Amino acid sequence: MKKTSLALAGLLLASTLSAKEFISIGTGGMTGTYYPVGGAICRLANKDPQIKCSVQSTGGSIYNVNNVLKKELNFGFVQSDVVYDKYNGVGKFKDMGDKNLRAVVSIYPELLAFVVSKASGIASINDLAGKSINVGNPGSGNEMTALTVFNAYGFDAKKLKHHGVLTAQECPHALKDKKIDGYFYMVGHPTANITDAANSMPIDIVNIKGENIDKMLKEFPYFAKGVIPKGTYEGVSHDVESIGVKAVLVTTKDMSDKAVGAVVKAILDNFDEYKTLHPALGAVTKESLVQGLSAPLHPAAEAEFKKHGIIK
Ligand code: GLU
Repeated sequence: MKKTSLALAGLLLASTLSAKEFISIGTGGMTGTYYPVGGAICRLANKDPQIKCSVQSTGGSIYNVNNVLKKELNFGFVQSDVVYDKYNGVGKFKDMGDKNLRAVVSIYPELLAFVVSKASGIASINDLAGKSINVGNPGSGNEMTALTVFNAYGFDAKKLKHHGVLTAQECPHALKDKKIDGYFYMVGHPTANITDAANSMPIDIVNIKGENIDKMLKEFPYFAKGVIPKGTYEGVSHDVESIGVKAVLVTTKDMSDKAVGAVVKAILDNFDEYKTLHPALGAVTKESLVQGLSAPLHPAAEAEFKKHGIIK
């Protein structure tokens, strides 16, 4: 009797040790940057025979953060402004904060692109009254950041002729069909979505800068200035001055050490390969992987970064 139960216990232990862990990563629209970079992270994580990682295309940051916390997704790509507000229960998430949120890795910088058709004549946020603008689909971070920028400019979104809620993926077509004059996209550059728009019609990307924006940067710790270099997109022949955040991979404090450790290890052990997997990863350094996280690191991620000497 004793022997059999011991043997059973042994079998059970062996099977848990070798059980594959299935993990899901929530990303964004298929033509954005979250989706292909999520795919790249999964490919590297899947080199570990214990891990089976897959990506889901979603509405974006807000959808991801909420569904990670509901445990519908194991990991998610989330803008650092959204991470901050959700962890601390402020802004859009006032009284809906959740301290179970954990950061895994800071992936790359995102910069807010306000993409307009040249024909719209829009040169600044001050030109938006009476225009049809896609502010962003409700599950996206785009919408949240665009509304923060409107606020900084003192622009009331009610003055728009049309306040669009299309997904980012639908926007280039809507722009070409003149259904909208422009759209906001907080994204890692270059991204297929804007390349598609730029290659099919004359576009511009409007600068987001000035006194109002300087004030906004002082108020919110997670925004930083950045430039989308001229020539990144066909026909946009000026450096675009804008503001941005970090794309952060998040999970909950209850996620297994095995899965979290495997994801971070996959990036660090294959770092040179990782950087070649999408052009938005070009400027990423090992140090930048822990910058701008906006929530505490999951302990297994912290342990992995320590092992590699990136944090003390
Ligand atoms: N930052 C965007 C958002 O949250 C998504 C960007 C992307 O899909 O690459 O909603």
